[in-house]
Amino acid sequence: MKIHEYQAREILAKHGVPVPRAEVATSPAEARAVAERLGGSVVVKAQVLVGGRGKAGGVKLAAGPAEAEEIAGRILGMDLKGITVRRVLVAEAVNIQKELYLGVTIDRSRQAVVAMGSAEGGVEIEEVARTAPDKIIKVYAHPMLGFADFHARQLAYGMGLAPSFASDFTRIMRGLYNAMVATDASLVEINPLVIVDGKLLAIDSKILLDDNALYRHKDLEALRDLDEDDPYERAAREEGLNFVKLDGNIGCVVNGAGLAMATMDVVKLYGGDPANFLDIGGGARAESVAAALKIILSDPKVEAVLFNIFGGITRCDEVAKGIVAAQGQLERKVPMVVRLLGTNEEEARRILAEASLISATTMEEAAQKVVAQLKQG
Ligand code: GDP
Ligand code: MN
Repeated sequence: MKIHEYQAREILAKHGVPVPRAEVATSPAEARAVAERLGGSVVVKAQVLVGGRGKAGGVKLAAGPAEAEEIAGRILGMDLKGITVRRVLVAEAVNIQKELYLGVTIDRSRQAVVAMGSAEGGVEIEEVARTAPDKIIKVYAHPMLGFADFHARQLAYGMGLAPSFASDFTRIMRGLYNAMVATDASLVEINPLVIVDGKLLAIDSKILLDDNALYRHKDLEALRDLDEDDPYERAAREEGLNFVKLDGNIGCVVNGAGLAMATMDVVKLYGGDPANFLDIGGGARAESVAAALKIILSDPKVEAVLFNIFGGITRCDEVAKGIVAAQGQLERKVPMVVRLLGTNEEEARRILAEASLISATTMEEAAQKVVAQLKQG
């Protein structure tokens, strides 16, 4: 789950990371009032869950309260990469001498937290990784001790920072690490981390939270911005389904995350393109199958659906009934290929045959059949 800059900066500040003074505003008049409180020039920043707001016109400097009001009037309500801006952050503007990058994330292959730093700040780090990977310095945290002072110095000097920044940099890096651990984040990033009057300051903060750990953080779950949620993923979450939207045209309804991954692979192998990852879970009942189908078919790109259900706890006849019931309620009909295996599979096949659904016995056969359906259409 992504959270907004204004939320991420609060978390970082709590962990000792220096951030400029700032307040959120939801109207031009409020932006003016904030600018008056801050004094001097300010920067007005759109609060939307996308990167590259600066380039898209969502970050603007204002000389004082009157200009802040005028700029907030332009940014609020504007469409930024498909999202309507509802809030701005009005921050004290600073005189930037240099923009750096600093982030912590998880390196799965190393099974470690990695800190990445670069003297090429301000631009998206993926861009730096692509064009000049040697400009990204990495150090790996100790699994028990986290980052030690020497790790921080190694990173700071690698980024070309002078020794006078070492102690500030160490504190900031520790702050990022502690914020990551405390919130179960998968990414904590400052871009840019800037040099202002010989000091380091975090100008933009980003935190990605691990969805699977959110149950431990009710306070963070409350930060979710429902306005910017993917509508499909939100609907799935409300039904307790594990769903990830993808770009293809074959909807997949599967029980078990491993089987869902394997199903997507097999669909790809036979030339198809999955529209989603979906794990309806063990013990899936007719209602969750119906809910899953509704979510999948609300995506107009979906032209066929593949069910791959292994019935251990799940009863295949229940699932078959769910599919048939759901099919009756659907506004849009698409070909459906069903593979059901396990508990009560004979009964399931009978139900499917009566409803004239295409069935398959192996995963390969199911994938080939669903791809063939698209070719016919
Ligand atoms: P992003 O484009 O969504 O990553 O938004 P950022 O918060 O990173 O802002 C984009 C750019 O605006 C930064 O890289 C800076 O160059 C510039 N910027 C942001 N705040 C200030 C500020 O206080 N003073 C100055 N001079 N530039 C700023
Ligand atoms: Mn940024």
